[in-house]
Amino acid sequence: MPDQTRPAFQDLADRLRAIVGERGLVTDPDALAPHLIDWRRRYFGRTPFMVRPATVDEVSAVVAACADAGVSMVPQGGNTGLVGGSVPDETGLQVLVNLGRLNRVRELDRANYTITVEAGCILADIQQAAAADGMLFPLSLGAEGSCQIGGNLSTNAGGNAVLHYGNMRDLVLGLEVVLPDGRVWQDLRGLRKDNTGYDLKHLFIGAEGSLGIITAAILKLFPAHADSQTALVALHDLSSVMALFDAARRRSGDQLVAFELMPRVGIDLALQHVTGAIDPLEERYPHYVLLELASSRSEAGLRAALEEILEAAFEEGWVVDGTIAATEEQARQLWFLREAIVEGQRLNGASIKHDVSVKTSRMGDFIDTAKARLAERFPDDRVVAFGHVGDGNVHFNICPPAGDETGFAERGPAFTEIVFGTVAEFGGSISAEHGIGRLRREKLADVASPVDLELMRRIKQAVDPANLMNPHVLFVEPSTGSDLDR
Ligand code: FAD
Ligand code: ZN
Repeated sequence: MPDQTRPAFQDLADRLRAIVGERGLVTDPDALAPHLIDWRRRYFGRTPFMVRPATVDEVSAVVAACADAGVSMVPQGGNTGLVGGSVPDETGLQVLVNLGRLNRVRELDRANYTITVEAGCILADIQQAAAADGMLFPLSLGAEGSCQIGGNLSTNAGGNAVLHYGNMRDLVLGLEVVLPDGRVWQDLRGLRKDNTGYDLKHLFIGAEGSLGIITAAILKLFPAHADSQTALVALHDLSSVMALFDAARRRSGDQLVAFELMPRVGIDLALQHVTGAIDPLEERYPHYVLLELASSRSEAGLRAALEEILEAAFEEGWVVDGTIAATEEQARQLWFLREAIVEGQRLNGASIKHDVSVKTSRMGDFIDTAKARLAERFPDDRVVAFGHVGDGNVHFNICPPAGDETGFAERGPAFTEIVFGTVAEFGGSISAEHGIGRLRREKLADVASPVDLELMRRIKQAVDPANLMNPHVLFVEPSTGSDLDR
């Protein structure tokens, strides 16, 4: 074990201050406080200090100094992660490395359809930088105003446009990473084709900061949308939802870019708690879908295509009511309501959350089955199953009956057992887009195959032999050599 006494941290603080300057080393408890608690307020950490390097060289020197002192590091972006990976643990022995100052757009190459950005760039700023040049960076999610691209990469974020553009992993051509010993590994050449051995960037994407600190990335851009059409429709059952999904994909010429499930119970929570959320239809229905078609052609005929899709769906009896946004403002309102479902649950109080995926062909059946099993044992609790069902991903959350949280937390493990048990039966994943972090590492150890776990541990061991990078995520035990060779 390294010397973790206070004087050792004092030495390290002096070294780090020499690298990042007074501004880059935060020790004031009030300034540290928001960085030591996660977005869901489940994990409270401690740290001797937070370092805020502003250049890659500074990140490299910071990491080398911490490695030298044998002190582990927790990288932090916008701290919007939902699995507790972005805050240090309770020991007070982990240095927090916040990337917020490393936030330059290095280059936008129109002809190559790429943008090169530093890890601390806020996602919305990257979207805007692309838009200013008539381009689209399609990653889009509720936290886009504060999450950073380094965090998006490290969690392999999904969000609202995966259906058409893929998740974060599909949007990256190269990375720059500071390795756990301080060396910089870089491939920012921006090549779309490069079959020269293992594709190393993919190791760091979704690694949750466990293999190094991402400092920059070269991302794919697309032609900006010149036309987009958004509708909110009501449906009576989930088989109709998935039938509409198939029809919309086929009949739109593959221009369906979003397909989000919004259950009535979620809309009710949004209307109840979130200012500005508006009920778009007069009547109440059990299920709603927000769908969007988009194209880079201004005369793409999307309005007509959407009307045709919805008319056919009415005739089939899948869709029973709906509205097509007539203006951009109306479309924005519909998306606001979609995101307000998340905020509504948070403001409502306790909830137990699961972020799971199954094949889209089994989505409707999966939700119905898991809901029925929960209803049988816990008839009063409310299931809020919503989100990116077009990607086979559903946020399967459970809220207590209105105004009564008695015994709710105690029922949590039973909810999770039912949901994850059903996921396993349906051949799905226990974490579709939020990652493992600290929240799901025991579960991962449970459900991953021994070969998966061994390969992951060997990779961790190879890249980070001293186990210094975010040691408390992904793995239940510290991944030391002895642990590896069980
Ligand atoms: P953080 O929370 O700071 O960090 C997340 C993880 O990445 C941590 O393990 C951290 O150590 C590591 N990390 C951060 N930066 C770096 C770096 N530069 N190098 C190495 N490791 C790093 N997620 C989705 O996928 N889809 C959604 O639709 C979605 N919607 C959301 C909506 C809301 C309202 C909120 C609050 C969150 C949502 N999320 C969603 C989760 C979250 O926004 C994403 O996980 C996001 O990608 C995290 O980015 P961040 O900058 O906040 O990272
Ligand atoms: Zn989501």
